[in-house]
Amino acid sequence: MPTSITVGSARSQPGQIVYGQFDAVPLLTGGSDAFPVIIAQGKAGDGPVLWLTANIHGNEYNGLAVIHQLITPELVAAMTGTIVAIPTLSPAGLRIGERSPYYIYGKDPNRLFPSLATDDNVSDGLPPSGLEQAYARLFERIDATADYLIDLHDYGIRAIPFAFRDPIFYREARDKAVARKLQNKVGTMLDAFGLTVINEYASEKYLEMHLHRSVSGATLNRARIPAVTVEIGGQRAVTPSHVQAVMTGIRNVMRWAGMLSGPREPMPDVPIVDLGYPVRRTTHPRVPTACLVHYLVQPGDIVKQGDPVARMVDIYGRPIGADDGLLRVEYDGFVIGLFPGIACYPNDAIMGLAIRDENSLIVPVHS
Ligand SMILES: [Zn+2]
Repeated sequence: MPTSITVGSARSQPGQIVYGQFDAVPLLTGGSDAFPVIIAQGKAGDGPVLWLTANIHGNEYNGLAVIHQLITPELVAAMTGTIVAIPTLSPAGLRIGERSPYYIYGKDPNRLFPSLATDDNVSDGLPPSGLEQAYARLFERIDATADYLIDLHDYGIRAIPFAFRDPIFYREARDKAVARKLQNKVGTMLDAFGLTVINEYASEKYLEMHLHRSVSGATLNRARIPAVTVEIGGQRAVTPSHVQAVMTGIRNVMRWAGMLSGPREPMPDVPIVDLGYPVRRTTHPRVPTACLVHYLVQPGDIVKQGDPVARMVDIYGRPIGADDGLLRVEYDGFVIGLFPGIACYPNDAIMGLAIRDENSLIVPVHS
């Protein structure tokens, strides 16, 4: 019996790619913003269901390229199971090329998915916005149909391709084993994916920053479905080699999930960093004063505590400070990506740095 999956107006058909839309935010000019939906199903019609979502940040384009290039008739002919893809989770952000859609300007749309429990599913104590309501309805479809989810993003202005691994929270002691099993499954999924893995912020900051309400955070922590965030490259541009690497990673995840047969595909030539211990993200270092920065490192570079990563200069190009303008890192780690622009104000961070992570990825939470 084939699995029939409906998302908005798209209804799966064995052996086909179908297109539709999911009505999202009602518009004052009539009609509504809709999320585009693609459902690609293998001939047999049954098997695992992989969701691919992209562009919740409207200025991150690599995920669109991945979805557009990955889902082809050739893939459908070879695959078992179903891909449900949403090329943009923020049509209004995409239209204006901005991180936030214009109806929640300045807010992060990737913090509006459902929270850990039904009783705290509110934003700032206010009733949910139109977008939040739309995400809640879409999340019901994810919860009901997905076996795995990959949410596609971009990081900084130039970055290595990598995956974020989220912590998993549990309330009751008896849920701990379930949380551990789920986290182990995410681990093997990321091994199959084959790119650099960076853990999300330490658990308290994770909740403080509402990361449990990101697309993958909610899918993992609320729906208990294996989910990861993949950062493909820099924002505002498409990086073809990274798009190819992430498509390869997704196909290797599909092999791991039993959706494609054959051996693991080799990864194209992109930076992949493994320091031999778990790492988490930080934004570091920060400039002490207003300045222009000239970077001395590239995404993927491994650094040691005390290494210079940029030179701070004034508008004439003269080094600022006693150390010939050098800005140094306080930790061992590697450069995730560089932040946009070179003009900085006091305490601006200039890049993402991955550093040793000693936090557990399974975290008790008290209601
Ligand atoms: Zn993003």
